[in-house]
Amino acid sequence: MSSGLLESLRRNVGLRLSLLYALIFSVSSVALLALAYYLLAAAVGSKDREVLGARLKEAAVVYKTGGIVALRSWVASQPAEVQNTMFVRLVTPAGDAIPPVWAPEDWRAIADVPVWGGSLKVPYIRLPKNAERDYTLGQVEFRDGWVLQIGRTTNSREAILNPIRRSFLLVGSLTVAFGFLAGAFFAHRAMLPVRQIVSTARSIIRTGQLDARVPVRQSDDEFDELVRLFNTLLDKNQALIRAMRESLDNVAHDLRTPLARLRGIAEVALQPDADPATAREALADCLEESERVVSMLNTLMDITEAEAGMMKLQREPADLCQLAREVVELYQYVAEEKKIAVRTELPTPCEASVDRTRMRQVFANLLDNAVKYTPAGGSVTISLRNGSDRAVAVFRDTGIGIPAEEQDKIWLRLYRGDKSRSQRGLGLGLSLVRAVVEAHGGLVTVSSQADQGAEFTVSLPK
Ligand code: ADP
Repeated sequence: MSSGLLESLRRNVGLRLSLLYALIFSVSSVALLALAYYLLAAAVGSKDREVLGARLKEAAVVYKTGGIVALRSWVASQPAEVQNTMFVRLVTPAGDAIPPVWAPEDWRAIADVPVWGGSLKVPYIRLPKNAERDYTLGQVEFRDGWVLQIGRTTNSREAILNPIRRSFLLVGSLTVAFGFLAGAFFAHRAMLPVRQIVSTARSIIRTGQLDARVPVRQSDDEFDELVRLFNTLLDKNQALIRAMRESLDNVAHDLRTPLARLRGIAEVALQPDADPATAREALADCLEESERVVSMLNTLMDITEAEAGMMKLQREPADLCQLAREVVELYQYVAEEKKIAVRTELPTPCEASVDRTRMRQVFANLLDNAVKYTPAGGSVTISLRNGSDRAVAVFRDTGIGIPAEEQDKIWLRLYRGDKSRSQRGLGLGLSLVRAVVEAHGGLVTVSSQADQGAEFTVSLPK
């Protein structure tokens, strides 16, 4: 086999499968045909011996009653077609074969047929092909030691078996060819989804078009499952890439404003007629603005790290009530300014294994939002529940609430609610909350209605 053919055989699973099917199919059909032929040949052979046995018995009776003369006339009375296929002779007790009573033209070729004396163990033998004819021979030994042998050519048997053999060979070859073609067809069909997956993947790699999908055949088999999973994978990849592009666009957009402001302030400071006090003030504004940019980039990187599972968490048993108290203290002043009452419902202790700094950031973001999006006169409640295997923190406020259609989007990077634009913020707080809570193996959910306040629930494994 050429190396090219071997290589394509190695790479082409369909071809390999069809060759295997064909091989199994061919071997079993050839075995079946061979068995059928063997049984047929055996049946014909046994019929041959039966006929020979009957003739041998008849000839023995004739010889016993009328001797060699009667035997001759018995042979002569046989129809021509029987005579043409028959051989009859006697063997003396001394083992000399007396010339055949009757034999066809080529009897000499079988003149030295064996005589097997004594008890008749092998009554019939088939002589090897030593002449044009092939004989089956039977013999009977009389009491006086004389042996009568009768032979019969097996040509008639060959005449029956030859066409059968030829038909079997033909049927066998057709079966092998059919086996290969049918195997190739079914293997080709079965491998169709795999080829489609390969071609879809190639087309995505070549063109960069992420919306190509593999057609589903609705046959509900393993390949269908594979195709569905592959398509789901492509859907997810596409969604992720779209989200990444959007975030990148948003980041670029959100960076442009502070950078433009920075540039404006720097220009003011650089005015030739600017007095030192204005220049100093402009520089201080620059610093503040650049800190905002750095903090936004840091938060974005934190979110990416946490979502990729690469955020290094220094987990240790921590009292969440203590953390909540620290955060409330931090926001007490802002809340008082806004005339918002901050209440706590904290059972003690409420321990969970968390990274203190990161969890403080989560609590601070949620409290910051609650205070930010609650108008004056409202209230914010932080309550902690100490379950057997989970600690649950709930941040409830009486603020502007979140409309149902926004509730899925608030977790996206840089997303800001329509009614929230008047407030300071970057739209990164909740993305970071979710990323950090999920990095802890926890879950954060929201329940809210527009103008009815909001409730954020953080559930953490202990
Ligand atoms: P930011 O507060 O900087 O806008 P966040 O990621 O923290 O960004 O929040 C995203 C959006 O979710 C906010 O713009 C706001 O619309 C909504 N949101 C978050 N917390 C609350 C809350 N407690 N009440 C009402 N809306 C909220």
